[in-house]
Amino acid sequence: MTRKQKKRLYRILAASAGILLVELLPVDGLLRLALYLCVYFVIGSDVLSKAIRGIVNGSVFDENFLMAVATVGAFVLAIITRSGDYLEGVAVMLFYQIGELFQSCAVGKSRKNISALMDIRPDYANIEKDGHLEQVDPEEVAVGTCIVVQPGEKIPLDGIVLEGKASLNTSALTGESLPVDVKEGDTVISGCINLSGLLKIQTTKGFSESTAAKILDLVENASSRKSRTEDFIARFARVYTPFVCCSALLLALIPPVIQLLLTGNGNWMVWFYRGLSFLVVSCPCALVISIPLTFFAGIGGASREGILVKGSNYLEALAKARCVVFDKTGTLTQGVFEVSGIHHNGLSEEEILYYTAHAECASSHPISKSLQKAYGKEIDRSCVSEIREISGQGILARVDGRTVAVGNDKLMRQQNLEFIPCHEPGTVIHVAVDGIYQGHIVISDQVKPNAESAIAQLKKVGIRRIVMLTGDSARVAEQTARSIGIEEVHSQLLPGDKVDEVEKLLEQTAGKGNLVFVGDGINDAPVLTRADIGIAMGAMGSDAAIEAADVVLMDDNPEQVARAIRIARKCIGIVKQNIVFSLAVKFGCLGLVAVGIANMWAAIFADVGVMVLAVLNAIRALKIRKN
Ligand code: ADP
Ligand code: MG
Repeated sequence: MTRKQKKRLYRILAASAGILLVELLPVDGLLRLALYLCVYFVIGSDVLSKAIRGIVNGSVFDENFLMAVATVGAFVLAIITRSGDYLEGVAVMLFYQIGELFQSCAVGKSRKNISALMDIRPDYANIEKDGHLEQVDPEEVAVGTCIVVQPGEKIPLDGIVLEGKASLNTSALTGESLPVDVKEGDTVISGCINLSGLLKIQTTKGFSESTAAKILDLVENASSRKSRTEDFIARFARVYTPFVCCSALLLALIPPVIQLLLTGNGNWMVWFYRGLSFLVVSCPCALVISIPLTFFAGIGGASREGILVKGSNYLEALAKARCVVFDKTGTLTQGVFEVSGIHHNGLSEEEILYYTAHAECASSHPISKSLQKAYGKEIDRSCVSEIREISGQGILARVDGRTVAVGNDKLMRQQNLEFIPCHEPGTVIHVAVDGIYQGHIVISDQVKPNAESAIAQLKKVGIRRIVMLTGDSARVAEQTARSIGIEEVHSQLLPGDKVDEVEKLLEQTAGKGNLVFVGDGINDAPVLTRADIGIAMGAMGSDAAIEAADVVLMDDNPEQVARAIRIARKCIGIVKQNIVFSLAVKFGCLGLVAVGIANMWAAIFADVGVMVLAVLNAIRALKIRKN
């Protein structure tokens, strides 16, 4: 409990004791009123002062105002009618405070739960100095520094392992519970916990650019991107509260005036009381509190599964997903290509690989990385110049002073180079040196082991249309799609064509639901932005993709797309339940109060009760079933 909550608890206890005391003591008349007023100020002083401040600032119609008017009114009524029933006003305030206390505890607890899940913020980094370790603030560590991570410690900054072997727990980042083994030369990301060996890591990024800081930033800012439902609630409250205040006033005035005209005698007190009770019921707290809380819990629950959602608006949009479009390389396939054949004309295999790997030395495309690996030797960047990467086609560069073109059919045609088509299955990378065709390298990629199940699960959650887009050749595209159960494929697309294709699909699905694009961000950042929801692969994807995307999958697992949709639907379901439930009870109570069946006691019980239930329901969004 925080200090503020404790203070509220003490006031609740003191007021309860005060009420008991006054009820038990044989006091009457003015003394009784004075004692009750004391208790009232103990329990309600903050509400009163907030209500007064609200009036002064011009934002009159909030819940503090409603509670203040209702309870002060109850006192006035008891004094005028000489009933001595001061308990009602005090009790209403007491219950209101109990409800507030409960709500702030529940909200605080779920926020804490979410932050605990996100406990990836590194506290320090170890730097070796004169034979012993020194702890420094991770923000002060320069890029390229060697840091030491001992077993049990969190990796503070992204980097490359220089020395040592260890198992890492990545669950806070990816939701994956199996440890990952790393060794010399592997890249590691901040936020993972070192479970076993000592690691020496050379940092590749500063603190604010590191994964942990980026994720925290993302989740913390997620709540500022409001969903339409949340906006609706805020607008609703602005209209609703003045509306009920006027209704309460009319309820207190019109019926007695009519009575007065008809019978010559208006029952002012009864209608005044009903007007006050009306105010008590009308507080829209359950809605105002539970809905942002539900979204917050949904985002927190998803992040525990390794799905980062950048705002509640995306959760809302995901729940209405109807069409899912996948990129191929790196999204459905692993993006790790094996060379399955080299067919050469003039140069030797060795020479073809030499020119290719050198031309590719600056690209971050999975193909480029795989070709560099296939070459297997040190790449001397000093003999490469004038590198030009043409997205969706390949690379042009000058290696050892000779012009080299490495890429697909499109690139060859565009450069007016003759080429020999290949009949072997796989992606064909042609190579030309100084304008003369030298042969091609056939590479093949493997489908991710969970790609097929990812498609099956999407079909299970009712996604009608699943499409694959790729820049690769039709043959490879068809074969990949068929093996995992996708029926609609568009191939040989340049990045711009992908945007056009997605725009066509957007037109076709418009009004029926949302379009999700899932990509790894290499050559598809524009599509990620254009789709209703862009989902990027976080672990392998480029930084640009993670920036452009609305949802980031930390473990690159395409099955997470279906899970994200399920989480979003559950969250929106809870929001709808809360809206319907609290409005139904609210209007029911207002009706009962207006006709005089329910009194102020029943009203406050209903109000606090609905709020408690709505908050408990909201917290359900944090819990996510596996599958
Ligand atoms: P995908 O849509 O499958 O992710 P891309 O749009 O990234 O594929 O690339 C499409 C095609 O362009 C590749 O299959 C390859 O033939 C060619 N290509 C792209 N980048 C390169 C590169 N760096 N080197 C060689 N070929 C490339
Ligand atoms: Mg790609």
